[in-house]
Amino acid sequence: MSAPQLSPATVAVVSGRPARALDSELNTPVSLSATFVGGGSLGQAALGYGRFANPTWVALETALGDLEGGRALTFASGMAAVAAALHLLPAEGTVLVPHGAYNGTHSLTGLMSSQNRLTVRPVDITDVEAVRTALQAVSGPVLLWLESPTNPLLEVADIAALAAAGHEHDALVVVDNTFATPLLQRPLDLGADVVVHSVTKFLSGHSDVVLGAVVARDEVTLAALQAHRTFHGAIPGPLETFLALRGLRTLPLRLERSQASAAELARRLREHPAVTRVRHPSLPDDPGHALAAQQMSGFGALVSIEVTGGAAGADAVVDAVRLWVPATSLGGVESLVERRRRHGNEPTVVPQDLLRLSVGVEDVEDLWRDLQQALDTLV
Ligand SMILES: *Cc1c(COP(=O)(O)O)cnc(C)c1O
Repeated sequence: MSAPQLSPATVAVVSGRPARALDSELNTPVSLSATFVGGGSLGQAALGYGRFANPTWVALETALGDLEGGRALTFASGMAAVAAALHLLPAEGTVLVPHGAYNGTHSLTGLMSSQNRLTVRPVDITDVEAVRTALQAVSGPVLLWLESPTNPLLEVADIAALAAAGHEHDALVVVDNTFATPLLQRPLDLGADVVVHSVTKFLSGHSDVVLGAVVARDEVTLAALQAHRTFHGAIPGPLETFLALRGLRTLPLRLERSQASAAELARRLREHPAVTRVRHPSLPDDPGHALAAQQMSGFGALVSIEVTGGAAGADAVVDAVRLWVPATSLGGVESLVERRRRHGNEPTVVPQDLLRLSVGVEDVEDLWRDLQQALDTLV
């Protein structure tokens, strides 16, 4: 059901359900069928084959499409979705990427560049004029890749201004909306052409699936993305899409709690002597605060901090936490902490001593006590 008049918190609950009929299922079941009946006088099946479509995918795609205000296609992972979106760029085109882009995006664009598939131009997406200048310098097809807030620097991009600048130069504008989710910002409404998600994160919310999605409005773009999925074959599993939709039902509740706790922790962390910098757009002096306050309906549930003692200091905090879980990933009900530069492919603009905190739904006082005692080991 498409329900644009309803609030997003309601859409998350009601969209993507089977039609109402006597004894119809409330939830779309996990459809485990590799093929669908069709041919001969029956005609062509709409679903056809398990690599083309699946009823359980469609349920999730309907809900996510309604939330983002477009049509969604799910993929086997966030990276499969990123790859599909990057392949919208014709061969030998140029992609403008945030200098602090998510490390998977950073690595994939680097790999495609080493294969002469595209040219990569890193840009500062917090500086609209700098992006405009970079766009002017490009000849040939161009794709403007945005992430806002970025992972893990939490930089905020002016999506509407950048989408307009991109379109002046015929760029395709893609936004990785993983950190904000459609509950906090809808990039298609701000002028972007394509939205990408790691559904693994907030949308699923329980750290039990790896899944991705792409959302767009333009039918030609959607057909190209769908052809990419069908023929490169990075399709989601039916069970994964079921779990993601189940998780999506509570996204509004989880996000409300997590981002309130994130803002509270950000305020307290600023006062801790072992913390040299706190990044969270809720903080009035955060570089992204004013823009986030205007562009987003909340500041999100990721906080990044820098600590004393360099990489070793940050690693000591990771070793000292008991409740927070040292692990990569984010957006689940469990709070996770990670020193991002432990990954060799993390962009070098990310400080060595930066810890990314993904704030879950535990009690905020418990989270604070554990973090505080871990940070106390540095002073
Ligand atoms: C995790 C993540 C991805 C990749 O998603 P996977 O589901 O891990 O493949 C892409 N973009 C951002 C911002 C992410 O955090």
